Amino acid sequence: MNSKRSLLTTDIDYDREGFQQGFLRLPYSHDRSGYGYIPIPLSVLKRGEGPTVLLTGGNHGDEYEGPIALMKLMRRMREMEIRGRLIVVPGLNMPALLNGSRTSPIDGANLNRVFPGTRNGSLTEMIAHYADTELFPRADLVFDIHAGGASTNYLPTLLAAPPADVVKGKSYRRIVEAFGAPRVMIMDLLGEDRTYGAAVERHGTHFLCGEFGGHAVCNPEGLAVLEQGIERVFAAIGLCDATAGQQPPPPARLLRVDGNKHYIFAPTGGIFEPAFALGDEITAGQVAGYIHDPRQPAQAPAVIRFAGAGLAICIRALARVEPGDCLGHLAQDCDW
Ligand SMILES: [Zn+2]
Repeated sequence: MNSKRSLLTTDIDYDREGFQQGFLRLPYSHDRSGYGYIPIPLSVLKRGEGPTVLLTGGNHGDEYEGPIALMKLMRRMREMEIRGRLIVVPGLNMPALLNGSRTSPIDGANLNRVFPGTRNGSLTEMIAHYADTELFPRADLVFDIHAGGASTNYLPTLLAAPPADVVKGKSYRRIVEAFGAPRVMIMDLLGEDRTYGAAVERHGTHFLCGEFGGHAVCNPEGLAVLEQGIERVFAAIGLCDATAGQQPPPPARLLRVDGNKHYIFAPTGGIFEPAFALGDEITAGQVAGYIHDPRQPAQAPAVIRFAGAGLAICIRALARVEPGDCLGHLAQDCDW
């Protein structure tokens, strides 16, 4: 079944020269609309030969720096001088973005855990399938923009996935350094391979990701890092000339998340009182916080400690926890 083309359709012709504004039609047959669809807006700009860059936001619907940066980019795309092709989708999981939630309110699915998707699957799985079969194969560089969402808050950080191949690795590093994020983090998703990024990597395509804030708000500092980074990456890969006044990239602090020792999870349910703040330098064994059980108010709280050391780059934004909830994570300095 997966060999058939996606059930999502569009009037956009990805090979046509010039600017096009349109949308993907995500078929949605329901009580109010038997033959309806959900429009997922996208813009495509193609001018001559050059690399194709795909930018997406709204993979999770409660992360806002990406959608905002990409809507701003869309509004000036028509006038942009580029050599190559730019594909911009500010709200890839549009139902989730309109609902302000990480997951889709229609099927409850997390788009970043259903790749490579399913042609005949739920709406979220169909979006993943379209991206995997129609968007990723066209791209030379893919950038999926995230933040911490409602449940976590991040220091604005570019996430990198360096390719194993030496030649590809060099060109990839050049792109990452051009972005100029204050922090670059090599992520460890604890073996997770259902993500958007894992799917892009299976296509052998350069992939950038990033966490530019969190707590389901727009972080202005993260947004500025993101917008300046996108411009510098366009110039670095030859899509655009550097814009007037474009600043050279500041040096980044390179960090690595190293498996379970860098994550902290709630061992018990209750209310989380953190004993650290975003940006703290943490030592191994340091107390991360306490979980108070409101059903046993006189009982001493559970004490949570960090197993490893590093920079506190992510912290939980919701105090209420159940066993297994992530309370935050660290990242430690590393070299390329
Ligand atoms: Zn996200």
